[in-house]
Amino acid sequence: MPEKYVERVLLTKEEIQKRVISLGQQISNDYAGKELLLICVLKGAVVFLSDLMRAITVPVFIDFMAVSSYGAATESSGIVRILKDLDCSIDNRHCLIVEDIIDTGLTLLYLKENLLSRKPASLKIVTLLDKPDRRRVDIEPDYCGFRIPDEFVVGYGLDFNECYRSLPDVCVLGEK
Ligand code: 5GP
Repeated sequence: MPEKYVERVLLTKEEIQKRVISLGQQISNDYAGKELLLICVLKGAVVFLSDLMRAITVPVFIDFMAVSSYGAATESSGIVRILKDLDCSIDNRHCLIVEDIIDTGLTLLYLKENLLSRKPASLKIVTLLDKPDRRRVDIEPDYCGFRIPDEFVVGYGLDFNECYRSLPDVCVLGEK
């Protein structure tokens, strides 16, 4: 397998911070007077969640789900498995799925249908990053931080083989 390395910065930490605050304001306006359960998709979305929840002014609760992702490869298999389910019930609650990135959309479509079957009061999606050119199923986020081109990115929580999550910027991964 070719060696991977961080090729360049795509989004700086300052750009990300500014956009996350504006997403938080938009979400706070839309959910005014309500309580919101943020459902964080592990592990990639944890950094986004921790910044986003502090930018939201309505009362928030958090819970976590882990689903199978690409592992060591950079292509979606299309097979989604729940590795860790929610601890709480979402029955009759306003829920917002917090994703790091939507690529083919296969993971999110599965997650959305699975969560809808649990009868939440509402279910929306916020993603930090969206790669619309790669979409294979009909699913769109309700809130999106940045639309990015079809490149494999790491940093700000996103990994390759569990590496690079702690980079403060979103960077493009290249091959040697
Ligand atoms: P999808 O099912 O939409 O194809 O894939 C969604 C998941 O794939 C994301 O939650 C993320 O874990 C992973 N993924 C997709 N594109 C990228 C990328 O550019 N970088 C990283 N690090 N993960 C990605």
